[in-house]
Amino acid sequence: MEKQIVLLPGDGIGREVIQSAKEVLEAVAEEFQHSFSFETHEIGGAAIDLYGSPLPESTVEACKKADAVLLGAVGGPKWDQNPSHLRPERGLLGIRKALDLFANLRPIKGFKNLLHASPLKAEIVNGSDLLIVRELTGGLYFGTPSERRDGGNAVVDTLYYTRKEIERIVDKGFQAAQQRRGRLTSVDKANVLESSKLWREVVGEKKSHYPDVVVDHILVDAAAMKLITNPSQFDVIVTENLFGDILSDEASVLTGSLGMLPSASLREDGVGLYEPVHGSAPDIAGKGIANPIAMILSAALMLRYSFELENEAKLIEEAVQATLDAGYHTGDLQVTDGKLVGTVEMTKLIVDYIKTRVHQSA
Ligand code: NAD
Repeated sequence: MEKQIVLLPGDGIGREVIQSAKEVLEAVAEEFQHSFSFETHEIGGAAIDLYGSPLPESTVEACKKADAVLLGAVGGPKWDQNPSHLRPERGLLGIRKALDLFANLRPIKGFKNLLHASPLKAEIVNGSDLLIVRELTGGLYFGTPSERRDGGNAVVDTLYYTRKEIERIVDKGFQAAQQRRGRLTSVDKANVLESSKLWREVVGEKKSHYPDVVVDHILVDAAAMKLITNPSQFDVIVTENLFGDILSDEASVLTGSLGMLPSASLREDGVGLYEPVHGSAPDIAGKGIANPIAMILSAALMLRYSFELENEAKLIEEAVQATLDAGYHTGDLQVTDGKLVGTVEMTKLIVDYIKTRVHQSA
């Protein structure tokens, strides 16, 4: 398979961990006889310094031509005082919009030997392995009118969805459930909101197209509670923009390890932008100690969702698990025993596992 991948390193540790993802992908390409070509472009603070814009036109053009985009992270104190059009995060919002990304996918998994890092009891997080599918382009964030009235003393925000917008994200939720354990939980507020009633209707209609998926509906307030009392009951959660924003941040602290969480944002034709959930971590940038796993797992998501290379994606995830099981960890994981390694060494361990495993099964 031949694919063109654009790398957007961004700022801080983004520049370090993107190199790790590239090395892992090169190993996968070599072992499975794929051809991945990489082109690097600037975004965020680095782009402001070089081109005077957080999202140069050349970056947008390259991303539009690519089969997938990998992004490190943007931001840092150097640009914190900039006017809003020259802020690094403008680049991030701009590229998500330019690529028409409508679905955000965040898998969250409680890795066995990292359960102690969770703010929740280990027995609650143990066994949790869920995916939140969030709608990205509609709902309260984009509905008009959104304005102040009555001299600023009244406000209106509009929660607007078309049936088509709901259908495409619900389809994505069902498809993700099919690729996983076959359970879909649709989260809404159908006891109050008209938009949620249409949402439920659509999920009900779509059900017959995916007979292998078991569906349930749950109100967003109950979902927020269950995420921290019994997260292992969930497989795939599908929900609208605002609910997804809140629930995915709530879920991201379940494992207590920001350096482990990948994400994917998808367009309808499968092209996607893949990035770790964490930021540019200016406090540790340049020290070679950043955890590359969130970025490497984001590359695995790219293989799964944009290239449909499920075996290759699974192998990367297995390599991460095996490396952690062997006791290796970066400093952020708060492991007291085991072997402390930096970014380069962690990446090499994961790459070596991939190569050895492929040769063993050959
Ligand atoms: P952050 O995620 O960068 O860092 C929070 C803490 O987690 C820091 O102590 C950091 O050292 C640690 N950390 C994060 N990722 C790590 C990794 N892979 N390995 C080891 N430790 C890791 O969040 P922040 O400090 O709030 O923000 C720093 C900058 O990043 C800001 O400019 C912010 O705007 C930006 N940011 C960017 C994104 C993005 O690009 N998607 C997301 C969040 C924050």
